[in-house]
Amino acid sequence: MADISAPQAQALTKRVGTAYGFTQATEDHIAQLIYQTRVDAIIESYKACAHTVQTQLAPDWMPPKRLLEEQARIARDHAASVSETFRESLASQVKQFLASYQPTRAQPQDQGDNQDDDDDRKVLAGLALIALRAALAAHLANWMQDWLGWKAPQVAQVETCSGDNAGTTLFLDDLSNNYIQVGDNVDITTLAIAVVPEESSRDFCSDFAGNVYAWVDYDLIPDFPAHVGCIHRKLLLVNGVLQEMP
Ligand SMILES: [Zn+2]
Repeated sequence: MADISAPQAQALTKRVGTAYGFTQATEDHIAQLIYQTRVDAIIESYKACAHTVQTQLAPDWMPPKRLLEEQARIARDHAASVSETFRESLASQVKQFLASYQPTRAQPQDQGDNQDDDDDRKVLAGLALIALRAALAAHLANWMQDWLGWKAPQVAQVETCSGDNAGTTLFLDDLSNNYIQVGDNVDITTLAIAVVPEESSRDFCSDFAGNVYAWVDYDLIPDFPAHVGCIHRKLLLVNGVLQEMP
């Protein structure tokens, strides 16, 4: 354990939070990236469904305003949550670091008068604190690289899958409300929804993964991703077949 008092540890944690925590501008930027990721995924999945039922969409088709507003709100919430998680993890890293830190200790020379000894101790304590901060900064730099290395792809995957789910659901809502006219060669009664991939860890998703549902039952299928790390999505099939986008 480092030679550091509880108030010093608290002050250090606060300083680390200020130095490394996300600023409002960073959080806003993350929210914007999340929003764009979700909206792109909505457009892509909606267009894929339209292609499957051979209906023409305007090339500049955009999701309705209320859905865009909802995505903006979710994006802001998720960015705030990423920022909060980061800040909490930082604080926890500082705590762990301080608990295991072994300072290399130099002793003042035992000669000269008491005043000299006191001065030496103060200098050494100051140097020890500098060494501790340098070691902490190096530790945090490593940790952040690692954290961002897995966190960024995790966020991208969750937001893309959520957007994909929202786009497919919007299309099925529109189909259900007769806003979509299927192509002449498409028999609407053969439309179905597959939950892919078939495999699933033993969790909530295993009840749905690999199943195929009549499209009219789409609201019986849960939203995906159903949990962190969920790999499932819904695909619209016609005659039991997925129509790949050209
Ligand atoms: Zn899943």
